[in-house]
Amino acid sequence: PSPDDPPYLAGLNAPQRQAVLTTDGPVLVLAGAGTGKTAALTARLAHLLYTRKAWPSELLAVTFTNRAAREMRERVGRLVGDAVEGMPWLGTFHAICAKMLRRHAELVGLESNFTILDTDDQLRLMKQLIQAANIDEKRWPARQLGGLIDRWKNRGWTPADVDAGEAAGFADGAGQRLYAAYQDRLRALNACDFGDLLLHMLTILKRDRAVLAQYQERFRYILVDEYQDTNSAQYLWLRLLAQERKNICCVGDDDQSIYSWRGAEVANILRFEQDFPGAAIIRLEQNYRSTPHILAAASAVIAHNGSRLGKTLWTEADAGEKVRVLGVWDGPEEARRVGELIEDGQRRGEPLDHHAILVRAQHQTREFEDRFISIGLPYRIVGGFRFYERAEIRDALAYLRLVNQPADDLAFERVVNVPKRGLGAKAVETIHRAARAEHMPLTAAAAQLLDSDELTAAARRSLGSFVAAIARWRDMAQGLPHPELARQILEESGYTAMLQADRTAESAGRLENLTELVRAMEEYETLGAFLEHVSLVMDNDARADEAKVTIMTIHAAKGLEFPTVYLAGWEEGIFPSQRALDEGGLPALEEERRLAYVALTRARRQAVILHAANRRIYGQWTSAIPSRFIDELPAPHVETESSMTGGESLWRANWSERADPFANVARGTGRGPGWQRAVTGGLDRSPTRIVEARASAVSLGNKGRGDLAVGMRVFHQKFGYGRIDAIEGNKLEIRFEQAGSKRVIDSFVTIA
Ligand code: ATP
Ligand code: MG
Repeated sequence: PSPDDPPYLAGLNAPQRQAVLTTDGPVLVLAGAGTGKTAALTARLAHLLYTRKAWPSELLAVTFTNRAAREMRERVGRLVGDAVEGMPWLGTFHAICAKMLRRHAELVGLESNFTILDTDDQLRLMKQLIQAANIDEKRWPARQLGGLIDRWKNRGWTPADVDAGEAAGFADGAGQRLYAAYQDRLRALNACDFGDLLLHMLTILKRDRAVLAQYQERFRYILVDEYQDTNSAQYLWLRLLAQERKNICCVGDDDQSIYSWRGAEVANILRFEQDFPGAAIIRLEQNYRSTPHILAAASAVIAHNGSRLGKTLWTEADAGEKVRVLGVWDGPEEARRVGELIEDGQRRGEPLDHHAILVRAQHQTREFEDRFISIGLPYRIVGGFRFYERAEIRDALAYLRLVNQPADDLAFERVVNVPKRGLGAKAVETIHRAARAEHMPLTAAAAQLLDSDELTAAARRSLGSFVAAIARWRDMAQGLPHPELARQILEESGYTAMLQADRTAESAGRLENLTELVRAMEEYETLGAFLEHVSLVMDNDARADEAKVTIMTIHAAKGLEFPTVYLAGWEEGIFPSQRALDEGGLPALEEERRLAYVALTRARRQAVILHAANRRIYGQWTSAIPSRFIDELPAPHVETESSMTGGESLWRANWSERADPFANVARGTGRGPGWQRAVTGGLDRSPTRIVEARASAVSLGNKGRGDLAVGMRVFHQKFGYGRIDAIEGNKLEIRFEQAGSKRVIDSFVTIA
């Protein structure tokens, strides 16, 4: 370091400087979390501009999110002063490719004003093609084709590149034909999907020497952050662009590769060294982010992974506090404790935005949101919607609102054709017209239209059963506890079935969210009280400039850091996820472990890991097993506490469930048609011992349980103890000791 150093070099360590100053030739920076990879990359941009090695428009810089691009642009601006105009080619792969493709659209048969389809449009098109090809779309749903085509696009494959083995995976080999037909349709519509942005640019660069040369000439320097998460198509695109000048600098960490489900290939790191022989490989080992305790914890966990490039991390930071592992009783207590800890922090003068809660799955945010709403703690959800604003939650709420208040026209409109009932825009318009003419709510107008010929016979039939269903649910609402009512509505409306048919990771998450919604309802006395709560939650828009607690998934937290991080739900089946345990084998488990590494390394001063002893799944309390990742933490760096005192009655409830065949149903995922996962013996978490048990709670049919009989004494979560008076399918008439006679669904009771 010298006093004449330009500002962007000040404070960088030797290998970081090397990463900045080795401007020409290929450079690969391979280093662990928090070692200043992004900082070095940002300084490198600044250096290239400062020394006039390139104009802003001659730099191609790729970040993983739009937000990261924005931050990098701002930081470079600060480092070299505002003499630098914004860099047009700084952004995500998608943003950059979209911009390029607009210039060359005609080369792939599009016009420059092409539209970019969203997933819904995409699936609608695929569905049409599947139908047109006379393929059974129940067996081969559009979603599955969509997943397949995405995968091919991530690999950089056009229809011609798909090999027979791959194509065999869909409708007896029709996949490739459908892919070709889909691309033709898109072209005819002057449209492309997300995957096409890259694929088309790749095609153009491969095919058109002049265009390729133009970009190779333009981009004097190429920089890539989060390199471990690039997929093949992205890699090939980078390689083409860098081939001439070879001034490409990628920074990444193989231990943080967490997007293999989106086609990311860690192998690209190894490929880089082959494709760019003589590349400078720079390793950064000093961590500037976290305390030694946090680093030791993260390093110990990731050391359990087999396939690693391996690296050292050290820090000069003072020891700080040990990683806290907090055992709590259940989900609500988890949220309560985190709320308390954050308030303690506030009292010590820590701003709210120094605190972040990281979850494995989206649905885990709900309990925290509800808690923070009720104690008035401002929060924001990053990289996703607030729980009650998610599409499937809004749909479910619309059904409930409609049952609660038939005059709720907005709710009617939202769900009248969700799932699809053949009541399209035209039918809805007719209902609207009738409602206006008669000054009545849509539900009432719909009922009247059933006797007229204003709608087609098919629409009348369909509307008739919808209107009848609403009436039926209103009746049911009188006798049934509202969480059970909600479950019935979701079943009978076909909403659950619609998501189940869908078979994607996304729809599994949506089903989990719905389960979580039902769970949330259990905490309120009546449907009305619950809906009231929700409308208050929705209204809770804190001021934009106010400091807030952040709640987000680990995936969304990549590259970020916070002084204090709360890691919620470290339990088998939540984290690692049940999906990874059931389906993915060792690679999936190792990816979960990398997620744990990412999660821990977001913390600067303090990491608090939480696990609950009990989770409520489909209305049943189940005991949860602490995550294996907790076992992998090194004892000297961890402080373990448990707040499990009291709760005697719950213990008993829990024990009584052990007589029930589903007593050990643990961590159900809501995937599949009515199947839940159960762990035999409750304490064994090896995936091979996991068996499936049919749980009536989510079954589509109304078959009752075989283990219940009239006269039996049972326990119900909400109503307590009672005796069965009558059994009808899966519904029980129970005389409760406290609550009187009620009709409940059998999955809610355990034998007392
Ligand atoms: P991740 O793998 O999580 O993306 P990273 O390697 O990109 O992490 P950065 O985010 O660049 O790490 O840096 C981590 C923290 O260390 C930041 O707060 C950054 O400002 C700080 N930092 C980076 N380099 C130095 C340095 N040489 N001296 C002091 N602080 C530094
Ligand atoms: Mg980074």
